[in-house]
Amino acid sequence: MTADMTSLQLGDDLKLPLGKDWTTGEGAVFPLRNPANGTLFGNLKTASLPQVDQAITVAAEAARLSGWARRAPHERATCLYKAADLIRARTEKLALLQTTENGKTLAESTGQVASAAGIVRYFAAVCETLTEEIAPARGNYLSATLHEPFGVVAAITPWNSPLTMAAQKIAPAIAAGNAVVLKPSELTSVVSIELCRCFMDAGLPPGLLSVLPGGADVGNAIIKHADIGMISFTGGTETARRIAEAGAGRFVPCIFELGGKSPNIVFADADLEAAAKGVSSAIFGSGGQSCVAGSRLFVEASIYNAFMKLVIGEARKIKVGDPMAKDSHIGPMASFSQRERIEKYVAIAREDGGRISIGGLRPEGAEYEKGAYYLPTIIEGLAHNSRVCQEEIFGSVLCALPFTNTDDVINLANGTVFGLACGIWSKDVTKAWQVGRAVQAGTVWINTYKQLSIAAPFGGYKESGLGREKGLQGLRAYQQAKSLYLGGFQA
Ligand code: NAD
Repeated sequence: MTADMTSLQLGDDLKLPLGKDWTTGEGAVFPLRNPANGTLFGNLKTASLPQVDQAITVAAEAARLSGWARRAPHERATCLYKAADLIRARTEKLALLQTTENGKTLAESTGQVASAAGIVRYFAAVCETLTEEIAPARGNYLSATLHEPFGVVAAITPWNSPLTMAAQKIAPAIAAGNAVVLKPSELTSVVSIELCRCFMDAGLPPGLLSVLPGGADVGNAIIKHADIGMISFTGGTETARRIAEAGAGRFVPCIFELGGKSPNIVFADADLEAAAKGVSSAIFGSGGQSCVAGSRLFVEASIYNAFMKLVIGEARKIKVGDPMAKDSHIGPMASFSQRERIEKYVAIAREDGGRISIGGLRPEGAEYEKGAYYLPTIIEGLAHNSRVCQEEIFGSVLCALPFTNTDDVINLANGTVFGLACGIWSKDVTKAWQVGRAVQAGTVWINTYKQLSIAAPFGGYKESGLGREKGLQGLRAYQQAKSLYLGGFQA
């Protein structure tokens, strides 16, 4: 397979890694449609509910009996390093699959393969370097704090960045000694399966990693299974609420990485050229289908009109096009239903009196006719409490509003149920720092946006999530602490 291919045909007999075997799915058949041109490039036979049960039972057995959790950390790390090398070696195939499934540009997908390999490598390093603690003794004993795996982790991922989302869950969970069942979005199952193949080919014990593609019914069956010891979910807030309710009966620990409506704040003293570029890429990068997309723009009133001209100018420069083409900045929306969702929100904005400053429609031309394309869109003049300013659209739609002073903008920034990320643009570092501290968000960027390090914790405040992924403690999230006391010991 080469990246020059403009179309990919997968056929109808894709095997799933279920339990210890590669098997044909016996569940619903999901048509695989390329959002760039609408072509059907395969049919995915998803996992049936009996197959879900079987894979989780095998995973639980592998977690108990394979000896993986008791292997020395550097041995587990060796397997992960091999998996990272295989991911890198299979860059072309993985990038092409992701682009075909969700319409990201091939350049972005290629970068995400490198990120996925880096994530796996990072958790391999964490695995072999994290230490355990000896608590201060208060008597004649030794007390060790040990960190043990949960058993089987259910990893549930969305469609927007399947490679990095899955790597971010599988690598720390496996490094921590767990088995994993991955439930990717049905839209991006094939690339998720190929990513998992890298772990299996790296020598992971059979049964320790399964992929269970399917829709909400499959996800629901997974989270309710008695052998699931922990859930790591990335997706929408409403889905997370359902998962939390389902897991509550058995007190299943959960990590939730959820949606956002992140503010991007531009003060009058900012480098306006840099801010305009940053604001534009914060929302329009990946077609706005990014959890941290800066979808609410707040501009200090004194520069509002001048700055909006700059941002609109940046949006105009964005080339929407075939995701395989080198000169496309963004491809189509990931699916036709995602484009419909965006169109509904733009219609609501119009009804609510919003002014469409740019975009607000599909691009015209023969090359766009069969794909799920939509133009970068900026809406002004909406009230901040309107639906379009409050709800996550997850597409290339930016709402812009002026603000009067620091207190005003902090209230606006914090004025949604979300708290995932925030951007602040100002040359006054003290002011930017103070605003950064006051904003309720898990990640705040000053004079930059969407810089993400695997070494820094990531997660949401309020309804944007619970728990943190990434960072040294990202591995601990997949373990539970045990205090082990050894008596009769003179410390
Ligand atoms: P979604 O919530 O619809 O689906 C996410 C996953 O959950 C999919 O695999 C889906 O099949 C599964 N699912 C659906 N119903 C389920 C149920 N009842 N039980 C178990 N699993 C179920 O989200 P989506 O549309 O795939 O993705 C978009 C959302 O993901 C956006 O809200 C976005 O902000 C969020 N997201 C968050 C982050 C983050 O790190 N915070 C990253 C990427 C995407």
